[in-house]
Amino acid sequence: MDIDILVIGSGPAGVQAAIHASRKKAAVAVAGKPSSSAMYGTGIENYFGTGPRRGEDILSEGIRQAEAAGAVFLGSNVISASGTGPFVFGMDDGSEIRALSVIIATGISRRKLGIPGEKEFFGKGVSYCAVCDCNFYKGKRAVVVGNDSEAAVSAALMTSYAAETHWVTWNTEASDHLVRRARDAGAVMHGSKPVAIEGAGKTESIVLEDGTRIITDGVFIELGARSSADIAMDLGVMPQTDDSIKVDGNCFTGVAGVFACGDVTGKPWQVAKAVGQGCTAGMSAADYVRGLK
Ligand SMILES: Cc1cc2nc3c(=O)[nH]c(=O)nc-3n(C[C@H](O)[C@H](O)[C@H](O)COP(=O)(O)OP(=O)(O)OC[C@H]3O[C@@H](n4cnc5c(N)ncnc54)[C@H](O)[C@@H]3O)c2cc1C
Repeated sequence: MDIDILVIGSGPAGVQAAIHASRKKAAVAVAGKPSSSAMYGTGIENYFGTGPRRGEDILSEGIRQAEAAGAVFLGSNVISASGTGPFVFGMDDGSEIRALSVIIATGISRRKLGIPGEKEFFGKGVSYCAVCDCNFYKGKRAVVVGNDSEAAVSAALMTSYAAETHWVTWNTEASDHLVRRARDAGAVMHGSKPVAIEGAGKTESIVLEDGTRIITDGVFIELGARSSADIAMDLGVMPQTDDSIKVDGNCFTGVAGVFACGDVTGKPWQVAKAVGQGCTAGMSAADYVRGLK
């Protein structure tokens, strides 16, 4: 398949990029699975103009808009990338796509603890985003898990919402001042590794290696995050040390024809930012392609 722009990712950033690029009359294909978007299966309550809504509902409306504008959704993943324009992409269904420009909108994969109960209670008290879900824990008990600055900041944040905040950190790498800030804000620190999350139908406690059991309503796993940056490297874009992709105000990566938007470009990991950058990246890529013709 030969197209103008391949958007890699069908989360809010990729879908918005597809809408804006297609409306500028570029031929656009979108790779990725909407059901793998971080937004899928979540309740979004802080996005402009919408009340609390299911992420998958917002996403499917966006996809309908992008299709109406002419974008084609492939439903397959990119497994290899090469070339310097046209770029050549190998897809997991065995097909090959050639594109004059590419928009990387692959999001991030939130790192997992890999302990019993983590998967079972995801969405039932287990969360990977304190800033997204803190509001649901007003007056309740919360446990933040992690060793890095991400966890320290989240623990401090949770103390403003939860009646009781615990921070489980067994190999603390957060800076001293962030640790102090979390502790001074009232977070109770535990220096032992989590081994299980337990409950009946919903999260009720977390068990640590030293035998401590902390009774809680929610567990926030904040282990930092890695973006899917391998494709970027195939395209000649060097990711940052945290695997995010640096872009300028036009969502340009510095490599001709390659743009990026959404969570993959770094924090804040929020729908509003993903959509805003998607708009910019879509228009920038369409302008780039028009300049080639
Ligand atoms: C539990 C939870 C609750 C949240 N709550 C909120 C909230 O209340 N408010 C808010 O603003 N934000 C919230 N967020 C964050 C929000 O969902 C993300 O910021 C947003 O989805 C990022 O959009 P994105 O398009 O950059 O990435 P994603 O939505 O993650 O989409 C990434 C896309 O890339 C695709 N992809 C990845 N690799 C490949 C590949 N190799 N080939 C093809 N496709 C690929 C995936 O299939 C997916 O379609 C929440 C997140 C979580 C996890």
